[in-house]
Amino acid sequence: MQSENNQAERKTLDDRNRMTELERLRHSCAHVMATAILRLWPDAQFASGPPVENGFYYDVELSHRISPEDFPKIEEEMKKEIKANHPFEKRVVDRSQALQDANSGRLGALSERPVPSRYKLGNLADIPEGEPISYYQNGDFIDLCAGPHVMRTGNIGAFKLTSVASAYYKGDEKNPQLQRIYGTAFKNKTELDAYFKMIEEAKRRDHRKIGAEMGLYVIDPEYVGPGLPLWLPKGGAIVEELEKLAKETEFAAGYVRVKSPHLAREKMYLTSGHIPLYQESMFPALELKESQDAQSAERYYLRAMNCPHHHRIFAAEPRSYRDLPLRLAEYGTCYRYEQSGELFGLMRVRCLNMNDAHIYCTAEQFAQEFNAVNDMYLKYFKIFGIEKYVMRFSTHDPAKLGQKFVNEPELWLKTEDMVRDVLKNSNINYIEVPNEAAFYGPKIDVQVWSVIGREFTLATNQVDFAVPAKFGLVYRDRDNVEKTPLCIHRAPLGTHERFIGFLIEHYAGNFPLWLAPEQVRVLTIGEDAALMKYAEDLVRELRGHMVRAQGDYDSDKINGKVQRAEQAKVHTMLVVGPRDMQANAVSIRVHGKGSQGTRPRDEAVADILAAVKERRHS
Ligand SMILES: [Zn+2]
Ligand SMILES: [Zn+2]
Repeated sequence: MQSENNQAERKTLDDRNRMTELERLRHSCAHVMATAILRLWPDAQFASGPPVENGFYYDVELSHRISPEDFPKIEEEMKKEIKANHPFEKRVVDRSQALQDANSGRLGALSERPVPSRYKLGNLADIPEGEPISYYQNGDFIDLCAGPHVMRTGNIGAFKLTSVASAYYKGDEKNPQLQRIYGTAFKNKTELDAYFKMIEEAKRRDHRKIGAEMGLYVIDPEYVGPGLPLWLPKGGAIVEELEKLAKETEFAAGYVRVKSPHLAREKMYLTSGHIPLYQESMFPALELKESQDAQSAERYYLRAMNCPHHHRIFAAEPRSYRDLPLRLAEYGTCYRYEQSGELFGLMRVRCLNMNDAHIYCTAEQFAQEFNAVNDMYLKYFKIFGIEKYVMRFSTHDPAKLGQKFVNEPELWLKTEDMVRDVLKNSNINYIEVPNEAAFYGPKIDVQVWSVIGREFTLATNQVDFAVPAKFGLVYRDRDNVEKTPLCIHRAPLGTHERFIGFLIEHYAGNFPLWLAPEQVRVLTIGEDAALMKYAEDLVRELRGHMVRAQGDYDSDKINGKVQRAEQAKVHTMLVVGPRDMQANAVSIRVHGKGSQGTRPRDEAVADILAAVKERRHS
């Protein structure tokens, strides 16, 4: 997630050239918004107005405190400016001209003003010597801006102001605090409406709301602590199903499972480089005196990642080329210190259970292993009905070797080439992002879109060519020489916390049968003793096959029972009355889909077992 500070960083010319059509449109809309605000409050002082994810903002200093009640009146003025269809006219000026105009209040303004355009003066000072200085003008509004924009204000098809926040000029709290006005814009009204519909739908599907309604998890800040979710039985059922899926998939792909403790001594994290590079994201040390007269305490840390433990498992036995690739898998529990203000439901937590594995392999084995990992991602996407995804391939920046990136220039190029080749050859949808790699190797972040079109970063896949050497990991090769393996870190299902948070939204809590916390409920019509036995026997049979089934044998009317089951999002309801019993049959209802007719009991049970086993979509 980008912080406000990052967004305040000045865009380079390259960044600007990469702006998409939609970003240009949104940024142009920020100019239009500034034009409108100036018509209403001519003394407004504007700072920066970039496009952001899902829209745009413009930072403004104004004695009037803008609130959403002002939006209709600002939007009215914006409509006029769009209707006027003014061109965005570019003018390149020299620095002295720009200084003069900023001093006469003319920049980010409709006319000259008694007070200088002070933030534009600040922005001007940031433009490096030699970089062109340009204005963009629409109607009377002149702004200091490098662009790009759409051709005319009339190209802005549909827009809406959304919120107002506060932000420091250039993201620095020593600077004045400005009002940040957010809006969004689209090519046309259909797209704008679809966007707001999606936002509404996302609210309805909020994982915190559905998680509470369905009784999946709770956060108990008083006794357990903030950001430390407790999985309730129904959430626990989903956790178990995901682990089962991972275990089956990984077993078939030749992984072996390990189990390791949640903490380790300081030496572990000094070696891995977590201390000091990552320490601010770790819980503080636990101090332990092994005996009363010990001179000093031993320091232990809760692990923030599972890798170092797996590295020690690799190191635990002598390894030869015959042992590689070695794929060590574990649903590993990690602890990360997130500031309390950053915590958010299941999405930002302090305890996470990761679908982790580390694959130790030779450089020759790398492509095949990496490919197999990508195939596993695609297999999972299919199971969960994830149709839209992108892999963000983050590479290093040679200028930052030895600081942000481990200083191994050749290994960087070599591994990045290997990864790029695999991505290209396997037809995977990916984009390359420079300067965002992990410290020890290139990284792939997997972004997926939920069924309602919201984006989530779920999982990462990293290549590590540095840390195995730090831990002294070696294998004896064919030529009897000790060599350091490469390590692939991968976590296709991310963490339970984030992945289930995503799935709740994706399915709106209406999980497919294999994942549904309560898979089957048997509902009786009537209280006949033989019928009761028939129903109980059915539940027993299903539970014997590990189906999460239970009975509702209450004496109230069947409609009430069905309603209760629907409310609890029970996937399949098997309604049994005297006639069903006589025919050795069941009447089937599926949550949200109504009656599916009557079937022989054996067939119904067999179909339930098959749907679970095949992990069918519905
Ligand atoms: Zn602009
Ligand atoms: Zn790892």
